[in-house]
Amino acid sequence: MNRSDLPELRAQLVGYSARLLSDGLAVGSAGNISVRLGEIIAITPSGIRYDEMRPADVCLVTLDGAQLPGDGEPTETPSSETPMHLAIYAATDAAAVVHTHSPEVIALSATRPELPAIHYAITALGGPVRVAPYVRFGSDSLAAAAVTALDGRAAVILRNHGAVTYGRDLAEAYERAVLLEWLARTYRLALSYGEPATLSPAELDEVAAETRRRRYGERRGPQASS
Ligand SMILES: [Zn+2]
Repeated sequence: MNRSDLPELRAQLVGYSARLLSDGLAVGSAGNISVRLGEIIAITPSGIRYDEMRPADVCLVTLDGAQLPGDGEPTETPSSETPMHLAIYAATDAAAVVHTHSPEVIALSATRPELPAIHYAITALGGPVRVAPYVRFGSDSLAAAAVTALDGRAAVILRNHGAVTYGRDLAEAYERAVLLEWLARTYRLALSYGEPATLSPAELDEVAAETRRRRYGERRGPQASS
């Protein structure tokens, strides 16, 4: 991707922001989304309701947090969680980051130390998802806590706050946010029956290996026939 992809990326960010509302992953202007474009991060603005956000409102910052001018439009203030997004880009191979205030993960965060593996789909997030300690929104300490709890994972739950997922593109990061909320809901349902059985690290490793094998097969298929 290069800078000529920016208009498309701005439109994508607005589209996925609207989905945060319709999928119940945030309300009002809560949560935020960013995409990496080389040395530039495009991120949703602070304090603009998602149902009022326009592509021109999307902000651009450098990897060290300096805001870049927009393309001639008045420039909005980048999301208050920009430090957390930047810390995740610095620490991982993320190409997109989604931060939600979704009710199932927030409820879990207030009562549990992690989201355990009660369904094998959690391997798409790297395994059981940790709950990072509570730190005030928008702080560098929250960014550090999120990065620490992300180790080996593509998702983290922020205690009494929300969740963050990342991916190789915006679609993957967003799908992971939806999956995380679904897993938290499923765990809550299981708890209503009693103490749920969870999958062992060996069982999760087996799932991850099989998923890799099948993906490899998919990639090989078309090449082998061409
Ligand atoms: Zn937040």
